[in-house]
Amino acid sequence: MAGFKSGFVAVIGKPNVGKSTLVNSIIGEKVSIVSPKPQTTRNRVLGILNTEDAQVIFVDTPGVQNTSTVLGTFMRRNSNISRGEAEIIVIVLDAGNVTTVDYKLIEKYKDSGARLFVVINKTDKIKPDKVFPILSKLNEYTFVDKFFSLSAQSGKNVDFLIEEIMKLIPEGEPYFDREIYTDKSIRFMTAEIIREKALLFLQEEVPHGIAIEIKLFEEKKTIVHIAADLIVNNPNHKQIVIGSNGEMLKKIGMSARSDIEKLIGKQVLLELFVRVEKDWINKSSSVSTLGDV
Ligand code: GDP
Ligand code: MG
Repeated sequence: MAGFKSGFVAVIGKPNVGKSTLVNSIIGEKVSIVSPKPQTTRNRVLGILNTEDAQVIFVDTPGVQNTSTVLGTFMRRNSNISRGEAEIIVIVLDAGNVTTVDYKLIEKYKDSGARLFVVINKTDKIKPDKVFPILSKLNEYTFVDKFFSLSAQSGKNVDFLIEEIMKLIPEGEPYFDREIYTDKSIRFMTAEIIREKALLFLQEEVPHGIAIEIKLFEEKKTIVHIAADLIVNNPNHKQIVIGSNGEMLKKIGMSARSDIEKLIGKQVLLELFVRVEKDWINKSSSVSTLGDV
C-alpha cells in the first residue's frame, strides 16, 4: 500500500495520570481496541487507531495502577519499553500532581531512540495559570520533541496530539487487521484485570497457566453485571485459586472489581468461578475463545 503509514506509540506515566483515558479518547469511535492474538504479549493493551491512510498502535500500560508495590512495579514496568519498540513515547503527567517522579521518567527516556512527547493531562481541573510553571520547568528538557496540554476526559486538544503523532509515523504496512470490533475492548480489559489480580495474589503458587473467560457482561442502568471463569489446567490448582473458605477468590474479586469499576466508570457486580480445563492451552477451540474475550 503505497503511502500508507503505520507505527507504535507507547503511552507511559505514573498510575492514574490518565493514560487509559487518553488512549480511549484518541481511539474514539472510528477505531477500536483489540485483544491481541493469543500468541502476543498478553498484558499490554493495544489501542489501534485506524484511519484512511494510517494505522497507529497505542501500547497502554494497564494494571500498573492499584498494585501494592506502587513505585517499584511502576518503574520496572515502564522500563520495559525497549529500543525500537515504539516510534513515539508519550509521557503523560497529571497537571494537578506533577512530582519529581515525572521528571525522572522524562529523563529516563532521553536516549530511548524514540521521539518523545510530553502530555500535561487533566488541564480541565486546574486553572490555566497553574500550567505555566509546569511548562517552564519542562522547557529545560530540550530533548523532548513536543509538549501538549490537554484534557483526555473532555477530549480538549486531543486532536492536536493525534495530528502531531501522525506526522511522525513512518510509512509502512498495517500490522493488524484494519477492521476490528470495538465491543471487545472492555471485555478484554476486564479479563486482563482479573488475570492480573490472580497472578498478583497467587504469586508462584499457580503457574501462569491461568486464563480468564468472560461468561456474562451485562450492562444495566446503574450497574454492570460480570461473570467470569478462571480457568486452570491442573485440577490441583482449583482449590488454591479458591483458597480456604473462598478467601483467595474473594480477594482477587474485590481487587479486580475496584479496577474494573474504574475502567468502566460504573458500579460492578463481579462473580468469579474456577473451572478446570485440562490442557486448555493446547486446545484450539479454547484458545480462540480465550483470545476472543
Ligand atoms: P491511568 O492509570 O494513567 O491509565 O489513568 P486512567 O486513565 O485510569 O485515569 C485515572 C483517573 O483520572 C480516572 O478517574 C479518570 O477519569 C481521570 N482522568 C483521566 N483523564 C482526565 C482528565 O483529562 N481530566 C480529569 N479531570 N480527570 C481525568
Ligand atoms: Mg490505565
